[in-house]
Amino acid sequence: MSFRSLAASQPAVAAVLQRSLANDRLAHAYLFAGDALQDMELAARELAKTVNCESPTKQGSCDHCDSCRKIDASTPPGGQHPDVQWIRPESKSRRIDIEQTRELEKSLHLKPSVGRMKVGIIAEADRLGREAANSFLKTLEEPPDRSLLLLLSTAPEQLLETVQSRCQRIQFGAAAAREPEAAHAPLVDGLLALLGGSGSVLKAYKSFDTIRGFLDAEKKRIEEQVEQSAQLDHYRQTADSKWLEEKEKEIEAQAAAEYRRRRAAVVATLEWLLRDMLVCIEDGDAALLFHRDRCDALRKLAATQTRERALANLETIETLQDQLERNVNEPLALEVALLRLSGLTTPATAT
Ligand SMILES: [Zn+2]
Repeated sequence: MSFRSLAASQPAVAAVLQRSLANDRLAHAYLFAGDALQDMELAARELAKTVNCESPTKQGSCDHCDSCRKIDASTPPGGQHPDVQWIRPESKSRRIDIEQTRELEKSLHLKPSVGRMKVGIIAEADRLGREAANSFLKTLEEPPDRSLLLLLSTAPEQLLETVQSRCQRIQFGAAAAREPEAAHAPLVDGLLALLGGSGSVLKAYKSFDTIRGFLDAEKKRIEEQVEQSAQLDHYRQTADSKWLEEKEKEIEAQAAAEYRRRRAAVVATLEWLLRDMLVCIEDGDAALLFHRDRCDALRKLAATQTRERALANLETIETLQDQLERNVNEPLALEVALLRLSGLTTPATAT
């Protein structure tokens, strides 16, 4: 399997990983989150193959070289390649224990023996015991050179917040079965108006305000929700100040992580709209659309757009998602992206 086949089932995931590979900006640690472990294992294996492949292509690994074949030869997946290590819960306890993580850490700190990179893959990472997870934090904080860690989980919220926050999260999903969130409808309307407005500053800033307003409200709601569920008020009466301080920090990190997830979902909704636009320009079947309820509006708009423009727009929103993941200034990145989408400024990639 190359990224091309991953792109068929998980287009957003394939795009993010391929872009990071192409720009040589792979993170040291990823958290793959989704419903189907199998999809995530396939993606992890493909990534492990690509970074170690003897003749990689733009589409990913070659599938044929010695390294690719060893990583493919599986049970457990990747078991035959000395630089690619998989761990998963032991059958009896259903937990990943500290001996397993220690062994993985030890291996990651060695130089790659035949490949270019050491890859550690933790399947069902939510089954990491607290002790194992804590011992692993240092490796996540200071990952060894030429190492790549992939944590795979169908229940990522069960991972320690400190582990989650040290990984770049990649959300997997069954795109075809998913529906646009009703709450995102005003943002979709705004973007449609923006795309149809041929270079309108007013429309760009109106869309900016709508998105900013939505995100601010989300942030507030998440903070309240997280604080409430932590029952901090109750502990304030009884707990000692040092414990309380730690707890507050943990809550803050939890709220920030949840906000990043929600923000990524907002940008993904807009990204889907731009993909849909491309589908309409190419006269694709309506069944391929994510925003099927916008089919008419999309088709009408598609008649006025070029394929080049649609591709450049898609690139703009992918760049935005990428920048937000790397914690750049959110309002600024959003503003620049919307001005580009409105056609007021030239996309950097089109020049
Ligand atoms: Zn290969």
